[in-house]
Amino acid sequence: MNSRVVLTFDLEDWFQLTGRRFGISAGRVTRGRLKSQVSNILDLLELHDARATFFVLGMTAELCPEVIAEVAERGHEIASHGFGHQLVRSLDPDLFRVDIERSVEILHQISGRRPTGYRAPEFSIDRSSFWAFDVLLDCGVTYDSSVFPFQGQRYGIADAPLGVHRVRTPSGRQITEIPLAVVDLWGKRLPIAGGGYWRLLPGPVLDWAVSRVASERTPMLYFHPYEFDSRTLNLSLRSRASSIFTLKQNLGRASIMGKLRRLVSTYRCVTAEQFLELGVPALAAE
Ligand SMILES: [Zn+2]
Repeated sequence: MNSRVVLTFDLEDWFQLTGRRFGISAGRVTRGRLKSQVSNILDLLELHDARATFFVLGMTAELCPEVIAEVAERGHEIASHGFGHQLVRSLDPDLFRVDIERSVEILHQISGRRPTGYRAPEFSIDRSSFWAFDVLLDCGVTYDSSVFPFQGQRYGIADAPLGVHRVRTPSGRQITEIPLAVVDLWGKRLPIAGGGYWRLLPGPVLDWAVSRVASERTPMLYFHPYEFDSRTLNLSLRSRASSIFTLKQNLGRASIMGKLRRLVSTYRCVTAEQFLELGVPALAAE
């Protein structure tokens, strides 16, 4: 049994991204909420001596640099979630390079260190966008955690390897990939890595799923700060689309802090960098 998990957070601001989605600038109302969401997480991690990787969105870092600085000061890894939260497969290499360089630069300025890891918004690297790996290597990023190895509706690479591996890029170089955790059950891959799956699945199911993955490899898990907000998330818009969206985002959210507490008290939580440093077996190339 592998008693370690790689714990990660996609650090973006719910109000900023949801506001943009529904055409309003929510920048002003976000600062305090994001700060308290992240503080809730950091306090819990500190209590259990847990470490995590935060894949930080550049546009959020620009809005709230003090939040990112606190994450770094409290001993966690700062990695990149890009700048503008655009889907990678919707960009071309030049636009993607601009987005990555901008995010790497701002994270370097805030934390004093260039990030070495990257996660794509909505896991949006598919086989047709592996050119993104070359851009990441050019920008000093040496590992990626964007591949969700199952067939989802909006994302996923159904036949990707389940464990950490190296991907050959179109230019012939290699980048390390740490895929998100899935349970392989009788040949069917079920996503259990975090986010909505953790909001909606019952605690005992998650306990079983994480231990099942951990019996074979170190699970890579992900969460978002907004999931740890103590109040209901709401933009107070009147449109039906925004009401349905926010309803979905609040579903099961109250249970997630308890689930994370259980996870960090059961497993040794490490950053992606620590995981790669601490005895990953010889990496297979895909
Ligand atoms: Zn995101």
